[in-house]
Amino acid sequence: MENQANTLFTSFDADEVTFFADLILPIPVPKLFTYRIPRGMADLVKIGARVIVPFGKKNSRVLTAIVARLHNSPPANYQARYVTELLDEYPLVNSYQLELFRWMAEYYMCCVGEVMNVALPSGLKISSQSKVQFNPDFDYPELLTEHEEILLTELKKQPALTYDELSRLAGEGVNIAALIKSLVGKKAVIVFEEIREKYVPKMIRKIRLHPNYEEREQLLVLLQRLEKLPKQQEVVMRYLRHVPVQHNPALNQKGLDKTILNQDDELSQSSLQTLVKNAVFETFEVIQPRFADTSAPQGEIRLTEHQQRAAEQIMTRFDQQNIVLFHGITGSGKTEVYIHLIQQALAGGSQVLYLLPEIALTTQIVVRLQRVFGDKMGIYHSKFSDNERVEVWKGVVSGQYQFVVGVRSAVFLPFDNLGLVIVDEEHETSYKQHDPAPRYHARDVALMMAHWQQAKVLLGSATPSLETYYQAKQGRYGLVELHHRFGDATLPTILLIDTKQEKRQKTMKNEFSSALLDALEMNLERKEQSILFQNRRGYSPYMQCEDCDWTAECPNCAVSLTYHQRDAELRCHYCGHKEAVPRLCPTCGSTKVKTIGFGTEKLEDQLQVYFPSSRVLRMDLDTTRAKDAYGQIIREFESGSVDMLVGTQMITKGLDFDNVSLVGIFDADRLIHFPDFRATERSFQMLTQVSGRAGRRAGRQGTVLIQTANPHQSILQKIIQNDYKGLYEEEIQERQDFNYPPFSRLIKLTVRHPDKAISQQAAERLCAELTDALGSTRVLGPEQPLVERIRNQFLFDILIKIEREKVNIKAVKAYIQDRINDILTDKGLRQVSIVIDVDCL
Ligand code: ADP
Ligand code: ZN
Ligand code: ZN
Repeated sequence: MENQANTLFTSFDADEVTFFADLILPIPVPKLFTYRIPRGMADLVKIGARVIVPFGKKNSRVLTAIVARLHNSPPANYQARYVTELLDEYPLVNSYQLELFRWMAEYYMCCVGEVMNVALPSGLKISSQSKVQFNPDFDYPELLTEHEEILLTELKKQPALTYDELSRLAGEGVNIAALIKSLVGKKAVIVFEEIREKYVPKMIRKIRLHPNYEEREQLLVLLQRLEKLPKQQEVVMRYLRHVPVQHNPALNQKGLDKTILNQDDELSQSSLQTLVKNAVFETFEVIQPRFADTSAPQGEIRLTEHQQRAAEQIMTRFDQQNIVLFHGITGSGKTEVYIHLIQQALAGGSQVLYLLPEIALTTQIVVRLQRVFGDKMGIYHSKFSDNERVEVWKGVVSGQYQFVVGVRSAVFLPFDNLGLVIVDEEHETSYKQHDPAPRYHARDVALMMAHWQQAKVLLGSATPSLETYYQAKQGRYGLVELHHRFGDATLPTILLIDTKQEKRQKTMKNEFSSALLDALEMNLERKEQSILFQNRRGYSPYMQCEDCDWTAECPNCAVSLTYHQRDAELRCHYCGHKEAVPRLCPTCGSTKVKTIGFGTEKLEDQLQVYFPSSRVLRMDLDTTRAKDAYGQIIREFESGSVDMLVGTQMITKGLDFDNVSLVGIFDADRLIHFPDFRATERSFQMLTQVSGRAGRRAGRQGTVLIQTANPHQSILQKIIQNDYKGLYEEEIQERQDFNYPPFSRLIKLTVRHPDKAISQQAAERLCAELTDALGSTRVLGPEQPLVERIRNQFLFDILIKIEREKVNIKAVKAYIQDRINDILTDKGLRQVSIVIDVDCL
């Protein structure tokens, strides 16, 4: 890799040459932009530093750009504008990252500006949306120019204004960035990005019963008194369901997060207010820890014999190979092995990146890592505030963080001395970004980055992706296996429940087989916890009229609306459209409007009916929107006060609970029969992972019940026997027969347009042109996807399969891009948009 040409300028006479910089601008235009560097700045600008530049007609926009190249040749066909301001003394983006940006733009067929946009936390990108505020310490008004005074007068009136707003106030022809820069120089205003907020602890408001009512007698009196006030009574009952004070008065002390009680309906909010006013409840505040209890520091971790051997094997493989797959069953203690390897890498003086899927990162693992690495470890997470992310970024540059644990986007952090990269749960599809571009796979990007920095990569999983396992089988990656659970715990026993048979015998109760109900009952008696998995949120996915077959559909998308009982509304899971639930059929007026099918919300409801005295929690997208909601649910479940946890695939990922001995799985058939060539692999992964939540402690044999209409399916047999290799052999053969990955690379093109005919016409033309050049075995489609219309856009997919060997993939991509550009510039097909997804999943 070429080193930064930081010293370029010393070889010129600064008085005679005009300097130019090629900049990456965070916009979707496939080129660099050349700007002029003011004299005074010339010595200071370095490649990889950020600058602020005017952009757009009349310089009306302000953008943060990255210096990619310095030179002294003016652009041929336009007049270069001046850089307004230099933001960094030292490069914020290093040469590896610049190389990465370029590589990603080419590989994922997008613009380098789009990569930059996703790579940098927004706190590092001053933009037209950035805010400017009056500096209260300013008191030298005589220094201001007329223009500045006008802006400052406005700024004094308001808490803050954006660059855009200020630009409008300043009027046409004013270089707003220059103006603000001058104001900043005079210390008259502050740009938000420059405010260094300290870490402010977050407070949560909680409520608890007034101590008077902790006593059972008094509580009963209270409930009686509230008989006449059903809404208030309901609020108290809700509280007691979460905090059973009637059974254990001591629980009241800790109280309950206020938002849990409110459940965002106004009625309960006002009832709660009244109850607080009448001193039935009291409110109080506590500091919310960023992560749960980090107090207990952990001493040296002692690897078990099996783990020790695995760690040694990994080290040995690393002597010969740069990439190793660590295939360890669920609960084998992969994390402990990682910790050991991380410590070694850090001791050797190199940087370490530990990637985790989004959802797994929020709690348990981070707590464990923090006990070992304390605040030497940076955490990079999308639910963190932007300030916190900027802190981590700068901490990597300054050397404060040698080790970062993070999600997908952590691959963009400015490492320059990586020694080890760990990709945990490497099979996880959430490593792939779907929207916006770059549609990158963090595992693959990490492999590239590690390759450049000569770092080792450890890919870990209990259910590796076929792609990765194939590479290991071919000898291109090392392979280390760990087949023992920690502490002699055993894998759970998996039983298949034949729902067809139970239906025949009429032993099903709604969605529950009698086998599952019995097992849940027994688990309750033993005071052990259960996890129930249904990969569908909401109450039920369809609402239909029995008389005329009308179904509730989204006006914008070609899907049915999902019924959400708690909020009493119908929702589209694709575009977010919401509407009230009709009481009568909108077409025929019938009252027989029924829900069909079931999601997590309905299961939660039914569990309360079958086990009225048990405590049930639900974990899905709907219950985890708030920043720490996910962590809260996990902590509550961990504390043991909850008996059952119902959830979508969120509950399958990396969770580690001591007391879970039963896992129930609904609707396995729907996963298995999903129309996608990866459905078998996915079902195996998902069902094995969720099963792996059971029986993670020695002496507590776990049981998994899978409800299915067809217990004889071969995939289910493989899951029961934990036969990953069998699954691999079968699947890989099929992939080879049909030339799917890992034998080929896939590129998916999705054509979109509000007019179906236009969308189809563009897709057909594109497909024909591609087929002409690449051959019909390589090009499939155009085909309407399962949901053929989303947000009023009609979709057509074209799938391109390119062999991994003997094809010049760069040339193929360039050809595809050319054909797409032809279409996008064709007058008749204007406004067609085409999404390119390289290595689509
Ligand atoms: P995996 O990621 O392989 O499913 P984990 O790393 O979550 O497994 O480990 C499972 C459980 O066993 C965790 O609670 C972990 O703390 C515990 N554990 C694993 N190895 C050890 C060890 N060597 N010492 C103490 N506890 C361990
Ligand atoms: Zn009807
Ligand atoms: Zn919709």
